[in-house]
Parts: sequence; structure tokens; C-alpha cells
Amino acid sequence: MTASSPTTVLVSGAGGFIGGHLVRRLLEQGASVRAVDQKPIAEWHQSFPDDSEQIVGDLRLLGDCERALAGGFDEVYNLAADMGGMGFIETNKAACMLSVLISTHMLMAARQVGVGRFFYSSSACVYAEDKQDTPEVAPLAEDDAYPAMAEDGYGWEKLFSERMCRHYLEDYGVETRVARYHNVYGPYGAFDGGREKAPAAICRKVSEAVRSGKHSIEIWGDGKQTRSFMYVDDCLDGTLMIARGPRVEPINLGSSELVRIDGLVSIVESIAGVELARNYDTEAPQGVRGRNSDNTMIAARYGWEPSTPLASGLRRTYQWIDAELAAR
Ligand code: NAD
Repeated sequence: MTASSPTTVLVSGAGGFIGGHLVRRLLEQGASVRAVDQKPIAEWHQSFPDDSEQIVGDLRLLGDCERALAGGFDEVYNLAADMGGMGFIETNKAACMLSVLISTHMLMAARQVGVGRFFYSSSACVYAEDKQDTPEVAPLAEDDAYPAMAEDGYGWEKLFSERMCRHYLEDYGVETRVARYHNVYGPYGAFDGGREKAPAAICRKVSEAVRSGKHSIEIWGDGKQTRSFMYVDDCLDGTLMIARGPRVEPINLGSSELVRIDGLVSIVESIAGVELARNYDTEAPQGVRGRNSDNTMIAARYGWEPSTPLASGLRRTYQWIDAELAAR
């Protein structure tokens, strides 16, 4: 990138959580960014300088993808998807699968105009469910996606779109790169309304408990289910590295710091300086019993893996959510 010819970048899903952070990072790097989302700009999680380009479009439509990609780009980051936490994806399977229209039409339009790189954000939800049936789960390696038995709805769409990226590279020479994100968290994302994920939901509930003086919390599941959570800054570092790096198979991008949901609650409690009575809702959506990222491949290829300690990422997330609630 030089001062006279900045890297041209398109980010779809720019009004969302990770897309918003990515646009901000790219602008800081001096890139020329076109940001696209279907939500009205006033509803985007982050706002950007007036002289940066922001457009609203429904990327399920080929015409809107063509409009978004007009002119061609050095790099495309396709992050747009109709998604949310378990509470959303378990009850909106058709809507999640319709994101296949976004993936398909973005690839078609990218091929038409020519792009340098096309990054697609897949998910750990592509992994076979029977490999995640215990809290003491073995970390998921890339090969564990096959034989395929992905998360119903959302996971199958991601797996299909991954393969489409692969075939667009092999058949048409579109330089696609795919990362499988594992549970990303941080500030400037959904923390209520139904699409929020566990870290944001727990931060919100703890903050509300402190605020109301009702020192109890409702936890989805029995609290023994395990996950790993990646701070959004690590997600951006890995995304840019993979997008700009050599060809790889779909590769894990996630933390390998495994924690029980009960442990996640304890960390947030200690950040807030409170101890809450725990009520477990075992009927609520909770997903697989255990999930962790095997980072052997990313460490071997790049000598890197996400490293922000959960406690420090959660502190920043809690402080942001707490301030948002205070401002309401
Ligand atoms: P998000 O919901 O905050 O952002 C997605 C954005 O896509 C939203 O702003 C939404 O309005 C937009 N969008 C949806 N449908 C669209 C359409 N038809 N046209 C244009 N824009 C549309 O989600 P996120 O957490 O930022 O996730 C970004 C990407 O990363 C998604 O592809 C998601 O599947 C993937 N991912 C995220 C996580 C995670 O933990 N956050 C984990 C695995 C994969």
C-alpha cells in the first residue's frame, strides 16, 4: 500500500460487529474502504468518517452485489450473514440458510469484476455435532468437518459456501480465502434483542444485576458446557493475515482457551465485583456440549494464534456494555 494508491477494500456486513471493527482497522491502515450492509446506516454498530464510503444494499440480490463490487477491489471481506447467537440460529434456520444467496451472489459479482482476494468468514458451526458431545471435548481440527454433520441450518450454509469458495478458486481462479471463526466477542456488537452471543449476554445480565440490586443471574444450560472465545482484535489480526496470505484450506481462527460457561460467568462477576445467585435454564438453547479450536494448522502455517486472555478481553467488553446500559 502506498500513499498514492491505497489498497481498495470492500467489507460486507460492515454495519455488524466484526465488520464494523474491520472497517475501522482498514481505515486506520490507510485503505480505501467501501462498507456495505443492509441495515440503515444509523443502525450500524460503528460510525465512520463522512468521507468514507458507506452503502446500504441487500446482498442476497445479485444486482446489489454487482453495485457493491462495481469497479473491482484489491480485497473483499464477505462478512454479511443473517446470524446471531444460539437463541437466534436454533430458531431461524431458514433465514440463516438464505445467506447462501449472499455468498453465491458475492462470488458471482466478484468474478465478474475481478478481485485480488475474496475472504469468507465461515464458522466452527460447520463441525460435526458428534465430535462436540462432551464438555471435555477434543479441540476441533479442520478435518473434523467431514464426514459432514454441521449445525442444522446456519452450519450447513457455512459449509456449502466454504466449498463454493474452494470451487471458485479452482475453477475460475478467484483467490478465495476462508477462515472458520470460533465465538468472537468484544465491544460494539449485539448485547440484547435476541442476536447476542453468550459473552455479551452474560456481561449484560451481570451489569443489569449490579444496577438493579437483584443479585441473581439466569444462565442458559447447566453451566457445564464449554467453549473458547476469541477477542475481536485477534479475529481482525487473523482475518487480515489469512486473507493476504497464501492459499490454505478453510482454517480455524479461534482461541484455544477452553472455559465452562460457569467459568465465563465467574470472570465477569469478578470484573464487576459481584457474586450472583445462579439459576440454570436447561430448556434454553445451548448448542453443543463442548467446542474448542485446534490451532495446530494456524500455528504451523503462520506461527501465530489468538492470544488475548479471556479475562482482559471480557473486561473491555463488560466496560463497554456497562457504559451502554448506563447511557440508556
Ligand atoms: P453481525 O450479525 O453483527 O453482522 C452481520 C451483518 O451482516 C449485519 O450487520 C447484517 O445487517 C448484515 N447482513 C445480513 N444480511 C444481509 C444482507 N442480505 N445484505 C447485506 N448485509 C446483510 O455478525 P458478526 O458477529 O459480525 O459476524 C460476521 C461474520 O462472521 C458472519 O458471516 C458470521 O456468520 C461470521 N461468524 C461470526 C462469529 C461470531 O462469533 N461473531 C462466529 C463464526 C462466524
